[in-house]
Amino acid sequence: MTKRILITGAAGFIGSHLCDRFVAEGFDVVGMDNLITGDLRNIEHLFSKPNFSFYHHDVSRFVHVPGDLPYILHFASPASPADYVRWPIQTMKVGSLGTHNCLGLAKAKGSRIVVASTSEVYGDPLVHPQNEDYWGNVNPVGPRSMYDEAKRFQEALTMAYHQAHGLNTGIVRIFNTYGPRMRLNDGRVLPNFFYQALTGQDLTVYGDGSQTRSFCYVSDLVEGICRLLFTDYHLPVNLGNPDEITILQFAEEIIRLTGTQQKIVFRPLPKDDPRQRQPDISRARQLLGWEPRVPRSEGLKITYEYFKKAVAYSA
Ligand code: UDP
Repeated sequence: MTKRILITGAAGFIGSHLCDRFVAEGFDVVGMDNLITGDLRNIEHLFSKPNFSFYHHDVSRFVHVPGDLPYILHFASPASPADYVRWPIQTMKVGSLGTHNCLGLAKAKGSRIVVASTSEVYGDPLVHPQNEDYWGNVNPVGPRSMYDEAKRFQEALTMAYHQAHGLNTGIVRIFNTYGPRMRLNDGRVLPNFFYQALTGQDLTVYGDGSQTRSFCYVSDLVEGICRLLFTDYHLPVNLGNPDEITILQFAEEIIRLTGTQQKIVFRPLPKDDPRQRQPDISRARQLLGWEPRVPRSEGLKITYEYFKKAVAYSA
């Protein structure tokens, strides 16, 4: 079979790392991005590669890719809370219409397609840690609803194509992921803390900082996605690092790592901010033989080096 793959969201944080991986593995990689939150600098090093091509295109509009296409990874979407509040309709369109276009393309080409879902389908979870059988606790009209409901619709549509057309589909539920190429101003906790530490501002902890998250380094996530792509498993699979930490502890870690003299300041907790989040990765362990390898201490050091350069570049 031809080694050819379409990656939507190619210029984004995770999408660009996926492009790197598949280009390195000798795939013919077709990247697609409308660049509203993606950044061409994330993939500019790939433009000289003969096995990489790029379409500046919005996947929420009709998509045509000529030739064989055995694999599709649908990773396009604003993904940080600040981004999806800024682009609510685009977020809903890419999760619904964009997914529909990708599924239609997969049907026409007979592709294996894996769509990027999220721990946000669990909302503010009442079950801890979250396993794939938990249905979630989502506010359909809250400030996160444009993302949460788009991703829930995406999962339902993907299952419908699997059932109705026998399409070879997969769903990955991605928990908080970090690493180089996160956007400095994407509003998420890690870029915010690094940016603040590096520019002499106090670190803003929302609420009292007792809410938890579990952070996965991007290379671990990419490995899990690759393994899932090369199965024919169709039910959702959580990927993330179960090492859970409070946001206050996380701020303290960043202060220690950067050696900043800045303090922690407390800001109001955004509405519907999930209280706790930790993936149950039993399914990924069993199905894919996968688990995260990069401890936070190591991943944060690499990411810090990236943010130092990104801040210098943006100055
Ligand atoms: N957060 C924070 N300070 C910031 C940005 C975020 O305390 O400057 C908190 C936020 O309220 C949430 C957690 O950090 O509890 C993770 O937020 P993020 O936006 O990274 O993503 P989420 O996991 O909520 O989708």
